[in-house]
Amino acid sequence: IRSRVAIIGAGVAGLACGRVLSDAGVDVALYDKGRGPGGRCSTRRTPFGSFDHGAQFFTVRDEGFERAVSAWRDAGHVSRWDGRFVRIKNGNESPYDGDHRFVGTPRMNAFVKAEAEALGAHFGLRIATPRGREDRWQLYSEHGQSAWEAEWLVFATPAEQTAALLAGTGRPTSLLGGARRARSSPTWTLMAAFEGEEPVPFDAASLSGHDIAFASFEPSKPGRGGAHRWVVHASTDWSRAHLEEAPEDIVPKLTDMLCDLIEARSRPVHAVAHRWRYAQVDETAPESFALDADARLATCGDWHVAPRVESAWVSGHRLGAALIDELR
Ligand code: FAD
Repeated sequence: IRSRVAIIGAGVAGLACGRVLSDAGVDVALYDKGRGPGGRCSTRRTPFGSFDHGAQFFTVRDEGFERAVSAWRDAGHVSRWDGRFVRIKNGNESPYDGDHRFVGTPRMNAFVKAEAEALGAHFGLRIATPRGREDRWQLYSEHGQSAWEAEWLVFATPAEQTAALLAGTGRPTSLLGGARRARSSPTWTLMAAFEGEEPVPFDAASLSGHDIAFASFEPSKPGRGGAHRWVVHASTDWSRAHLEEAPEDIVPKLTDMLCDLIEARSRPVHAVAHRWRYAQVDETAPESFALDADARLATCGDWHVAPRVESAWVSGHRLGAALIDELR
């Protein structure tokens, strides 16, 4: 398969870039290692109902992103989440209003999935090595397949993975410095379902001075319902301190914390932990995207701007516009 632009990573950033290019008539192909769409806006489906185990919601300030969100809302892929949000600081609880919060419906990955389908993104393909051959790039999967070629290559992957892929091309590029400069921190996440009725002290809590950073009551998000279930994100410090532990050792620890927090009467009947090794960028790259016209390589992603869904979209969208200028 030969395309003008190949995008590695079909998360929010890669898809935003792909959408701009595709709307301008550019032949674009997207590849993602995930089994399904979402990236860090993924959803885990279980017999107890779905869990949004990455981003919990997003806010909207950028005008372009507002237009995209409005189209997703019209199509039913996104809704406002008007839950009871609280802030808990050193044990003291207060209401947490802030900007309108949005989620994918009926699952967080819904708008990402719709975009991925519209753009024909390919999943289950981990790109291991991109190789430059004269005027084009060839992509090799981890199994050594090389069915994909493109003139331009966009990396819409987390910074650490982008740096490794760029270094693997064996070609010097100015993009490597930016990718190496960005630094992300990890998050351990718990997905827990209870059988009976348990207290629901809030729909979502943002905590500081606690080993839990965020807790969400999944049925309170629009379009969900189903069993009583929670998603818990551990704090960065806790996640880092327990980074290399096995998920089955993490589950009881985070379960204890959740049960304390909501004063649960019973233990969950289902509990699974997921490690996000590169969850949130702490130190960003200097520009909102990067492009090396000589090498025909470019990068985008939240790590160029801020650890948010909106920032990932803005980065990808801006790169798309800049690439169109280059391709003209
Ligand atoms: P990603 O979504 O990470 O997409 C990168 C894609 O690249 C992935 O799909 C991955 O599978 C693919 N990939 C990687 N390597 C390869 C390879 N070699 N070959 C092929 N594909 C590859 N944001 C908010 O706005 N609000 C929140 O409440 C919020 N909470 C969060 C909580 C957690 C635990 C996490 C992890 C993130 C949270 N975020 C939140 C951040 C938000 O999820 C991200 O900013 C955004 O989803 C990043 O999008 P992206 O496209 O830049 O990267």
